[in-house]
Amino acid sequence: MQLPEACDFVVFGGTGDLALRKLLPALYQCDLEDRLPAEARVVAVSRSELDDEGYRAEVRRALSEHVASEYQDLAAVERLLSRLHHVTLDVEDDHDWHTLFGVLKDRPDAESTIRVFYLAVAPSLFGPICRHLGSGGMADAPARVVLEKPIGHDLASARAVNDVVGEVFDESQIFRIDHYLGKESVQNLLVTRFANTFLEPLWNSHSIDHVQITVAETLGVGARADYYDRAGALHDMVQNHLLQLLCLVAMEPPIEIGGGREDVRDEKLKVLQALKPMSPEDIDRDTVRGRYASGWVGGEPVAGYLEELATAGSPADSLTETFVALRTEVQNWRWAGVPFYLRTGKRLDRRTSEIVVVFKDAPYDPFRQREGITEPNRLTIRVQPEEGMRIHLNAKEPGPGGYRLKPVSLDLSYASAFDKRSPDAYERLLMDVIRGNMTLFMRRDEVEAAWAWCEPILRHWETTALPPKTYPAGTAGPTASFTLIERDGRSWQES
Ligand code: NAD
Repeated sequence: MQLPEACDFVVFGGTGDLALRKLLPALYQCDLEDRLPAEARVVAVSRSELDDEGYRAEVRRALSEHVASEYQDLAAVERLLSRLHHVTLDVEDDHDWHTLFGVLKDRPDAESTIRVFYLAVAPSLFGPICRHLGSGGMADAPARVVLEKPIGHDLASARAVNDVVGEVFDESQIFRIDHYLGKESVQNLLVTRFANTFLEPLWNSHSIDHVQITVAETLGVGARADYYDRAGALHDMVQNHLLQLLCLVAMEPPIEIGGGREDVRDEKLKVLQALKPMSPEDIDRDTVRGRYASGWVGGEPVAGYLEELATAGSPADSLTETFVALRTEVQNWRWAGVPFYLRTGKRLDRRTSEIVVVFKDAPYDPFRQREGITEPNRLTIRVQPEEGMRIHLNAKEPGPGGYRLKPVSLDLSYASAFDKRSPDAYERLLMDVIRGNMTLFMRRDEVEAAWAWCEPILRHWETTALPPKTYPAGTAGPTASFTLIERDGRSWQES
């Protein structure tokens, strides 16, 4: 897809954490590598009383903090700063919008400029922003709007958010971002599956025993305790990131990837629709909720979740989970009977995101007199911290005599295989928005299908109102999450 000549990238919430920590550094890297349109401007909107120079000073500080030192380039910083403008605007106020519209119209090529409206603000502000953009004549295609998570906190509220944006923008203009899909290793999963032949004959219930998806964080909720307590791990991670990863593992081969067609999103939707619905009995048996207590992380003592909440002045009767493990199945011909185990949590013993595909045992063992051990083959896709892939297989230990077998691994580390910087997910995704490529963004029906599957779990947890199981910070989560998988005769794989 073609890069436009001119683009106005409007960031609502331009002084916020997301904008300064992620979006502006990503735009800087794109500019550094000459990937931004030549005539690109960035217009930040916030309530802060800042003029252009004041905002540029904030961004200069943010870039010095959030861009790695080897990519700090004085000329490139100045070039990005010269593209920046700031408009002070309370988006809930009906009267101030003319200043923003004036800035957007104030360029010779305003009519042909691609406008991207990035909503890095609370979802409650999506409605007022979209309505004003619509009534100000700013929302007509090829304008685009980018929505950040959370898109709703259940199916009804997700529909409400989608409705409010959909009143003004057509679905073909709406980019719902899930930054996991911008990660190189996640896109490489598509390449591994669909640009190679060796996996496809094995990629089904005949050869695959089960799949594990883990997103583990060592951080606690800290200053975000108040926000987090209204969300929890199922909202914050499972409904979006983990289910999106599951979709990429389980989807059927699409006709085309990256060419602007809907095939990838169509196939992901089919996976979400094929997830086994959970009855109350299934939920009791196949889901585990946890919450961290105080403990040790990286050799330092850390507070428990309830203590952090109390420090933030929030009520201490919270039932919010900071950890979820669950077992599900994709009910279709390819995956029938293959469990997918998902787990995610905060304040765990390591920071990692990975997908492990565990193959079935060899059907027959001809090594009668052998020594040593064998393990089922595994394919591990490491999403973070070090992006890469590992194939675990069994090999003969060198030496005379009989057969001594040992599990070994074939490793692909992105950092060492490619002599290239691995771009941050936002760089890829922001350029896709500017180009108008929607493949890596979630369509409305996907988001709603994910909520439709999660909602019975949320409702059942609300009804039973049981406190989450406690785990000490710095451990691998509640023991119940081990029981969940071990009762099936399997175990969580640590790569
Ligand atoms: P933040 O509180 O740091 O920043 C909020 C921004 O919105 C500020 O620039 C503020 O001036 C602006 N704002 C608030 N009310 C406004 C109003 N009435 N009119 C105009 N501007 C207004 O928040 P954040 O962490 O940057 O997050 C923004 C949104 O993105 C949230 O919905 C959050 O859930 C989501 N999000 C954040 C992250 C992240 O890493 N921070 C990641 C994913 C999603």
